[in-house]
Amino acid sequence: MKKLVITIDGPAGAGKTTVSKALANRLQYKYIDTGALYRGVAFEAHAKGISPDDDHRLEALCNELELKFVRNNKGVRLYSGETDISDYIRTPEMSMTASAVSARPVVREALLGLQRKMGAEKAAVFEGRDMGTVVFPEADVKFFLTADLEIRASRRHKELEEKKSPQKFEEVERDMQRRDNNDSSRKVAPLKPSEDAILIDSSQYSVESVIEQMMKHINEKSAATP
Ligand code: C5P
Repeated sequence: MKKLVITIDGPAGAGKTTVSKALANRLQYKYIDTGALYRGVAFEAHAKGISPDDDHRLEALCNELELKFVRNNKGVRLYSGETDISDYIRTPEMSMTASAVSARPVVREALLGLQRKMGAEKAAVFEGRDMGTVVFPEADVKFFLTADLEIRASRRHKELEEKKSPQKFEEVERDMQRRDNNDSSRKVAPLKPSEDAILIDSSQYSVESVIEQMMKHINEKSAATP
């Protein structure tokens, strides 16, 4: 397989993480979860009592933050400096805080360079909201994965139940809709499909079927790439 950059954007709960990991595994590519980076900023801002609209302090925070992905015995984990923060960034509260800080241009600017550096060697699957539109406009294959709100919310609710989170389905659905609205309506890098993205609605498809559809496009691109 040629070294390509593959981007997968879409709203929360569309199945991006599952299919991105599976594709990366199949292609022997790196998998980069860019949402984790925004969650990392949210976590550190929250820990330091920084309000998500305090651009001045957010900028200072981003300048000193050192976020990186490190493989340890638990898998690929997000580190802030020398601390593994992966277990703290997936709560419903961090989802909403990540969405709030991600609307601030100072935060997006700070993470842009980091993400591009991670993609410099290609051979990577990037998952996020603006991968195909802003971070990697020249990506080799771009997907936009979506699904009906009710289906996305019920998948997320099941995941949270497995983690023994007490959130009710209605709350999960409401938070998800609010987060998607924030992400789609913000001025900088809103959630939207790139003009050249391949749209896949995963509502009626199994994970395997989505992966097969994606692999078809990737194989075609690989064959056409010198
Ligand atoms: O993908 P995940 O749900 O972990 O992302 C958390 C939040 O981070 C999103 O709701 C969005 O606000 C933000 N995000 C973003 N751009 C990305 C990835 C995530 O704005 N590329």
